[in-house]
Amino acid sequence: MPPLSELQRDKSFRLKLIMICLSVALSVSTIYVVVSYRLAADLGLKTELDSLHRQAMLLQGELLLTDKEDSKERVSELIELVYFNDNLDSSEFYLNLSGPNLQWSITNKISPFQLERLMPALASHTYKRMPMKDMPNGVEVLDDKQFIWQMILGEQYQITIIKTSKNIDDTLNFVMKRLIITSIIVFWLATWFALTLSSWMNKRVQGKNDTLAHLATHDSLTGLPNRLFLTNMMQNVIPNPIDTKPLKSGYIDKLALQQASLFVIDLDKFKEVNDSFGHAAGDTLLIKVAQKLKQALNETQTLVRIGGDEFIIWSPELSIEEAYKLVQKLILICNEPVMVNNLSISTGASIGFSHYPSHAIDAESLIICADTAMHEAKQKRSGWSMFSESNKKCGRQRLKLRADLDNALSDRQIKLHYQPKVSLKNGHIIGVEALARWHHPTDGLLAPIHFIDLIEQSGRVQEFGRYVILNAIEQLDIWHTQGILTPIAINLSPYNLLDPSLLEFTITLLKKHKIDPRKLEIELIESSTSINIDDISSRLSDFKNAGIKLAIDDFGTGMSSLSYISNLNVNHIKIDRSFTNGIEQDSKKQAVVSTAIMLANSFGSEAIAEGIENKTQADILIKMGCLYGQGYYYAKPMTADNIQAMLQANAILPL
Ligand code: C2E
Ligand code: CA
Ligand code: CA
Repeated sequence: MPPLSELQRDKSFRLKLIMICLSVALSVSTIYVVVSYRLAADLGLKTELDSLHRQAMLLQGELLLTDKEDSKERVSELIELVYFNDNLDSSEFYLNLSGPNLQWSITNKISPFQLERLMPALASHTYKRMPMKDMPNGVEVLDDKQFIWQMILGEQYQITIIKTSKNIDDTLNFVMKRLIITSIIVFWLATWFALTLSSWMNKRVQGKNDTLAHLATHDSLTGLPNRLFLTNMMQNVIPNPIDTKPLKSGYIDKLALQQASLFVIDLDKFKEVNDSFGHAAGDTLLIKVAQKLKQALNETQTLVRIGGDEFIIWSPELSIEEAYKLVQKLILICNEPVMVNNLSISTGASIGFSHYPSHAIDAESLIICADTAMHEAKQKRSGWSMFSESNKKCGRQRLKLRADLDNALSDRQIKLHYQPKVSLKNGHIIGVEALARWHHPTDGLLAPIHFIDLIEQSGRVQEFGRYVILNAIEQLDIWHTQGILTPIAINLSPYNLLDPSLLEFTITLLKKHKIDPRKLEIELIESSTSINIDDISSRLSDFKNAGIKLAIDDFGTGMSSLSYISNLNVNHIKIDRSFTNGIEQDSKKQAVVSTAIMLANSFGSEAIAEGIENKTQADILIKMGCLYGQGYYYAKPMTADNIQAMLQANAILPL
């Protein structure tokens, strides 16, 4: 798997960890050496002072015992024995004895100048009386040498001994060697511990990183890679179009592509399954379809889930001819029924594909091209489609519009146009249908086909539903102040009805503008009745109970249950314009329309024929007992101002 540039791991982490551990190891050993050295030094000093104290006490004892006459002689012998017997040369030494009939001092290698500087420190103790065991002693540093001294302030004799602490140096030298050896061992142990710890921690962090990277690059439901993974992977194998050199030499050289194909797959009926059978069933369906698609691929091809019911297949080195074969195989796989909740469900799919480098030379554009082709396949209901230059413009336009959507709603660029619904018998306008038009600042007037699915894809269905309701109610208010009481029918996406507070929103607005709820009608596309019936039926009843009218739109195109429609007790059933179109010559269409009119009557609803374009169609419909209609023959959708003039004039439309 190529590295994920967007999720670069912190490779310096291990190095940092090792450096930190090594510094800790170094600090530990340094502290160990310093503390041990200090301890040894303090201990050595204390031992030497103790020894000096004992020697001085011994000297004092001897002096007291000896005959006063030969005390000098005895003391010399003793001193020689204690201090000078072996290292006289190296010993720096000063001894002073004073007592009755005795004033004796000896100096070896300590200069009078040094003595002069040492004496003041000792002088402060001279007059203090204290027990023998606590006789003053201490250490003075002079000329970078440590001098230890001991005073005995006896009743008869006073003894002062000063000497360099040779023994301390010896002790320390002795200890130091061992300390260095031990500190090397300590350092080695600490280093080993640090490395082991850093490697353990590194493994743990790496493990966590891997889990996070997996979560960020994979879909949790199907376990398939996601879009981030895909674009990273593609960017790593597609040579950089700017300098035509591979993105990362070394690695890319081996993998640089000659060609590739990318497929965008969108399941056709997924939303219906999800809404009718619940999310758990929808999830099962997605997992099963994903498994089947994966089985159809070889190891060089990657299946990616990029959204709800959208998948991408990335196939390196696949030519256009091979892509043709694969896309047909994929269509067959998607058409195969899948068992969900003990029901055999076939979702079907629309697939678009693009080819590198024929259609685009970067990852994002390849996806857009395949997506554009997929939309064409969906619109034409052709199953699959390959990207072509002719729909390149359309793809770019879609991208641009998607980006412009924000302003469309905030600047109220999307406006409602109105098409009259007329009584076929007398040409009176019985109501108007609000149809959205985007007054695009640069692209002119855009019909819903250009933006409704963009709104749905961008997750703004609820926002847009409320936007339409608000605009319609405001228009009703304006018209009411002018004495126009014509009702407005609005189109809502089935998904708007899943918005739990939509009714409250609508009622609040109606109350605020003092509009009779019966002046507002909601048109629901017939297929909408197949979305989670339990949820929707209670919501629709709530709207109905609030006085808002309901219509089933595009009747005859969906698969809604007739008993359900009859129970809903809708006000209008709008017969889809595909049945009106060509009804003059088509007896089958006449039969369908006639049945639809009968059904509507039996449900207690009024039938409205859509898409009436000429008088013949109108006459046939009237003969069949259809009372109401809508179509270009009477009037095309027009702006609020234009229709307002018609409504004010109580215009009669041509019969
Ligand atoms: P629809 O609700 O079935 O609206 C009727 C469509 O048929 C309108 O297209 C209208 O302009 C067109 N039409 C009316 N009479 C004739 C005719 O005699 N001949 C032909 N060929 N066409 C006729 P439009 O305005 O392009 O709307 C298309 C669809 O977009 C609508 O179908 C509706 O499903 C959806 N739509 C429109 N406005 C909104 C909206 O505000 N919200 C939602 N969710 N959907 C909307
Ligand atoms: Ca409609
Ligand atoms: Ca319709």
